[in-house]
Amino acid sequence: MRWILFFGALIGTSLCGREKFWGDQVFRINVRNGDEISKLSQLVNSDNFKLHVWQSPSTFGRPVDVLVPSVSLQLVKSFLASQGLEYSVTIEDLQALLDNEDEEMQHNEGQERSGNNFNYGAYHSLEAIYREMDSIAADFPALASRVKIGHSFENRPLYVLKFSTGEGRRPAIWLNAGIHSREWISQATAIWTARKIVSDYQKDPAITSILERMDIFLLPVANPDGYVYTQTKNRFWRKTRSLNPGSPCVGTDANRNWNASFAGKGASDNPCSEVYHGPHPNSEVEVKSVVDFIQKHGNFKCFIDLHSYSQLLLYPYGYTVKNAPDADELDVVARHAAKALASLSGTEYQVGPTATTIYPASGSSPDWAYDNGIKYAFTFELRDTGHYGFLLPASQIIPTAEETWLGLRSIMEHVRDHLY
Ligand SMILES: [Zn+2]
Repeated sequence: MRWILFFGALIGTSLCGREKFWGDQVFRINVRNGDEISKLSQLVNSDNFKLHVWQSPSTFGRPVDVLVPSVSLQLVKSFLASQGLEYSVTIEDLQALLDNEDEEMQHNEGQERSGNNFNYGAYHSLEAIYREMDSIAADFPALASRVKIGHSFENRPLYVLKFSTGEGRRPAIWLNAGIHSREWISQATAIWTARKIVSDYQKDPAITSILERMDIFLLPVANPDGYVYTQTKNRFWRKTRSLNPGSPCVGTDANRNWNASFAGKGASDNPCSEVYHGPHPNSEVEVKSVVDFIQKHGNFKCFIDLHSYSQLLLYPYGYTVKNAPDADELDVVARHAAKALASLSGTEYQVGPTATTIYPASGSSPDWAYDNGIKYAFTFELRDTGHYGFLLPASQIIPTAEETWLGLRSIMEHVRDHLY
């Protein structure tokens, strides 16, 4: 038995070589006014505290979540007390959560290796997700196919599942997940969604009629290098893995790299920042591959990007607080979708334009889609609201995917009925 476990660990994902977070904690800091926002910005932007931001300071009174390394715990607590900032500890023992996640993943990989089917209630390696995409296409060859749309910076393939029941360039829906690699619930929800689409076709009248008029393209791992890095080096890696000449820091925030008010508000020109926008729009080959594919296709009507966490359903704009021309319609569609999502188990989503609901963010994918004629552009921030943050337990994958499906399907039905 011990040998089997040992062997399993050797050929499994090499989680044991990852950065450890012993003694580190996650703090949730409350923000009540502009004065507190500026104090907090001082805290998170200072090199002294070595914080990692999970939820950035926002102008709208949303709390801020930060990973506090054990070495800075006392310093940060003193700073917060001296500034009169209220906080709570949301994750007491970060490494314990990581160990638990690793153990579950290893155990599941062992089971899948010994012949079990792909377990949709588990987190997976990139290879396992890619294999499952192949299986879906093999199981439903008349409906699904796996298409390579490009490759990542480190030369991993970018695979899309295309769901189509017709010929030619029909009106199409783009579903994207994992552009921020640490948001594992997004990739897991995406691959579950792929299986759901093929299983429900010709059973569920809604998805059947959607597929009779439109194609769906689903990219479950938009940032494969980052995803592999979260499993081999650092679970909390967000950016791409491209090199930045002249800087020791790696990666660009692929959701600040789109050609939509590039390098504007909510993005940084510092390559060491988590929201570094990159040297120029589409500098990231992962972004460029999607842009080229969508432009060449020319008939996309809907663009949906899955992220986590916060339970939000957002629409353009992120780069300006001005209303998008279609804001009224997008708001109705999003509210309807959030209601459908909540109908399953009561999970509440907040709905609104990105810039005035969380914070301004320039160069994001839905803004690019919207400004390029894809009216129905949305971002989902999936579960949870911060209890586990990026470390959402695998036991919540299926409940999250099931409720999200109701929201996605509601949007797709609206698009089907409002083709333009
Ligand atoms: Zn994200």
